[in-house]
Amino acid sequence: MKLKTLLLVLLFFSTISFAADLDRKPDFADRFKEITKTASKEQLYAFLWAIPKGGDLHNHSGSSFFAYQYFEDATNKALLKGNEFFTRVRFNICPGGYEPFIRFRTIQRSTYLKLSDCEKQEYVHLESLSPEMKAEWISASILDKPGEGRNEFFEVLGQRRGDLGGDPNIMLDLLIKQMQLMGAQNMLYLETQARPRYRDQDGNPIDEERGVTMLRERLNSPEAKATGVTVRFLSTISRFAPDAEQQVEAAYKFIDAHHDLWVGMNMAGREDNDKGYPSRFMEIHRKLRRTYPDIHLALHGGEVDSPGEDVRKTLLLGADRIGHGVNLISDPDTMLFMRHNRYLVEINLISNNLLEYVPDLSKHPFPEYLRLGIPVCLNTDDPGAWDSNMTDEYYTAVKYFNLTWKEIVQIGRDSLQYSFVEEPVKAKLLEDYDKHVLAFEAKYGTGDWRKLLSDVKPMTSGYTNRTLGITY
Ligand SMILES: [Zn+2]
Repeated sequence: MKLKTLLLVLLFFSTISFAADLDRKPDFADRFKEITKTASKEQLYAFLWAIPKGGDLHNHSGSSFFAYQYFEDATNKALLKGNEFFTRVRFNICPGGYEPFIRFRTIQRSTYLKLSDCEKQEYVHLESLSPEMKAEWISASILDKPGEGRNEFFEVLGQRRGDLGGDPNIMLDLLIKQMQLMGAQNMLYLETQARPRYRDQDGNPIDEERGVTMLRERLNSPEAKATGVTVRFLSTISRFAPDAEQQVEAAYKFIDAHHDLWVGMNMAGREDNDKGYPSRFMEIHRKLRRTYPDIHLALHGGEVDSPGEDVRKTLLLGADRIGHGVNLISDPDTMLFMRHNRYLVEINLISNNLLEYVPDLSKHPFPEYLRLGIPVCLNTDDPGAWDSNMTDEYYTAVKYFNLTWKEIVQIGRDSLQYSFVEEPVKAKLLEDYDKHVLAFEAKYGTGDWRKLLSDVKPMTSGYTNRTLGITY
C-alpha cells in the first residue's frame, strides 16, 4: 500500500512537470540565433544596444568620458561658474619652462597664470580654437590613428587632459552623462575607478570629504536617479609609483570610511613597467587585512603580451576579480584552478586590441575562459580613449565569438553577481536584470523583430562608425 502511494505521488509530480514542459514558450535561444545570423550590421547593433546588459565592472572614470564632452563642458561658461581652460598649441623654447611637451595639454586659468610670458604664448583659450583645431583637439584624446597605441595611451593622454579631471563641475556633469548613456543601453550598474580629488579655481585642492559630499549629492539627484544606473566606486592606486604601498594603505583607510559608495580597491598602471610587479604588494595587503575587514580587491592582472603567472600572483594578493587576465591562458595550473570557481575575469576586448595586447581580436582568450567555465563579463575600461561604448564590446564579442543567448545572459548576470555592491542592492539588481531579460525575450520572441528594431535608436560611438563600419 505504501509503495502504491509512493508511485501515485511520483506519477502525479511527473505529470505536472510534463505539463509544465508543454507550457514552455519556444526557447529564445533559437530566436537569438535567427536574429544574429540574418540581421544587417545596423539591425544587429540595434539589437545588441537593446539587450539587458548588467554592469560595467572595469571602468577608469577620467578616461571613460568622451573628448567631445570634455570640450563642450570646458567651454560651457554656465557650467564652469567662472573657471576657464587654455590649451597648448605651439612649442617655444622657454627658459625654465617645466610644462610637458604635449600638444593640446589643457590647463585651467590658475595654472596658466603661473606660467612665464614665454610659456603663456604657447597656450590659447580653449574657446578660441577654430572648428578644425577643435576637431584635432578631440582626436588627440582618442586612439583613432594608426600608430597610436600603448605609449600614446599610458604616457600622453592623461597629461594631455591636464587640469580637466580636477574640475568638479565638469567631472560631476560627465558622470551623469555617462550614466545616461549606460541607462540608454539597458545597463543597471557601474563600478568605476574614481576618487573626488578636485581642485578649486585657484588651483587649491578641495578637501576630499567635501568632494565626497558633492559626489553623493549628485548621485542622489533626480537626473542621476532617472538613469536607472546604480553607481559604486573603486579606489585605484598606481602600482609602479615609488609610494605605491602608502597609496594602498591610504586606499584601505578611505574605503573603510566610505563604505556606502566605495566598495573596493584596484591597482592599475602598465604592467610592462617592472616596478609594479604583483608580489611587491603581498606584505602590505597582509598587513592591512589584519586591521580592515571587508575590503574587496579587483586588481589588474596579466594585461601583458608575454606569458606568465601574473594572474596567479594577483589572486595571491587577495583579488576576487582580475582585470584583463590576457596571459592567464599561458598558465595552465591557474586556468584549471579558476574553472567553475569564484574569481571573475573582467574582459576588455577593445582596450586589449587598441593597446596591442591582442593585435588579432579573433585570438582573444575570452571565449576560452567563457566556455571553460571561468566567470567573465564585458567591460569598457577607458571608453573615452577608444571613443566606444558597451554595445561596441558586445558587438565585438558576438561578431568574433558567436555568442549564444545563454552566454549573453550569463555574462550579464555575472557582471552583477561579481560586483562588490552591498548584498541587498545586488539582490535587487539581479532581480531587475532577470525581469528585464524576461521582458526582452517576450518582446523579441515573437512577431516581426525587424520592425521592432527599426524603433531602436542607438547612439553610436566613433568606434562604431570607424571600426565596426556602422552608421545610421
Ligand atoms: Zn584598466
